[in-house]
Amino acid sequence: MLRILSALSCLLLCFPQGHAFAPAAKSRNVVLVTLDGVRWQEMFGGADPAVMKFLARGAPVEGTSLYRRYWAPTTEERRAKIMPFLWGTLLTQHAWIAGDPAKASHVESSNRFHTSYPGYAEILTGRAHDGVIVDNTKQRVPVPTVLEFVRRELRLPKSAVAVFASWDRFNDIVEHEPDAIVVNAGFAPYASNDAALRELSTAQAEMVAWPDERFDYPTQRFALDYLRREHPRLLYIGLGDTDDYAHDKKYELMLESLHRADRFLAALWTQLQAMSSYRDNTVLIVTTDHGRGNMAEYWDTHNEELTSARNIWLAVAAPGDVRRGELEGGPTLYQHQIAATIAQAFGLDFDRAYPGAGKPIPLPAGAP
Ligand SMILES: [Zn+2]
Repeated sequence: MLRILSALSCLLLCFPQGHAFAPAAKSRNVVLVTLDGVRWQEMFGGADPAVMKFLARGAPVEGTSLYRRYWAPTTEERRAKIMPFLWGTLLTQHAWIAGDPAKASHVESSNRFHTSYPGYAEILTGRAHDGVIVDNTKQRVPVPTVLEFVRRELRLPKSAVAVFASWDRFNDIVEHEPDAIVVNAGFAPYASNDAALRELSTAQAEMVAWPDERFDYPTQRFALDYLRREHPRLLYIGLGDTDDYAHDKKYELMLESLHRADRFLAALWTQLQAMSSYRDNTVLIVTTDHGRGNMAEYWDTHNEELTSARNIWLAVAAPGDVRRGELEGGPTLYQHQIAATIAQAFGLDFDRAYPGAGKPIPLPAGAP
């Protein structure tokens, strides 16, 4: 009590008049998380009854493990079964989400292809590159990304901007200039003093489901360890299990991956809140690279022809932003606005540096 009193009186007396309650100029951080190819249908509605019926092929859906695990009568209950942290904590206490058509809220990608590399390039460079990036073919991203931009503009050490991603292609997507930032993607080893993480780094290459993509678990563990040790100002975590299981037509495993991604978000948020340099001082953005088919029989697919795959979603937790839960109405938000939004959080003007890039989504001004 005494300590509180003296702290209070110091607040009143120790600072020159007018500055007593001015917030300290804190460094501000951004954490970006992408969940590859997660449809808005599952994000806002949980297990999709139309897909469940389609997959049951005439048999009663009530007999399936999918039904027992993830079914509930309302969309709100179903989505909370898959993402309890997102819906029960993050969106009730800290964040908003856009992209639910039922709430007249829309988020769209603007590239023609509705596939991964075109989507990630749009997220990270603030515009579509339809003439250059037409599919997932390995090629270096043709222009600098916002990750490189932030490092350069703030004159940060390389370790302050880091990417952890499951898909090997991220090595080419996230930086125009090789070695500009820290990238650990695909089956890249992760160096650590922690024996368990060293073991995981070795083991990841022994547990392979897809040739160019590791499971999300090592990606998540490495990213959390890096966050704890290196305190990056800008951290990007690209998860991929959801898209791989969807292409494999494994609906239940796709939902379970989304459930595990929610557990990761909980661990990430808890860790951010436990570190004074991040608590109340960090913008968290969670989104996806593309949607998928809207009809039940196309739930697993996305391509240029399936225009419904351009519909995506976007969640943001920003200090000082009082909006919570689902946004209703409002202008359509675009994937190409994310780069400038990240830069804006650092007080930087990305769309001025790169004319043609999308404008930032307005967020309350925090201490840059
Ligand atoms: Zn895909």
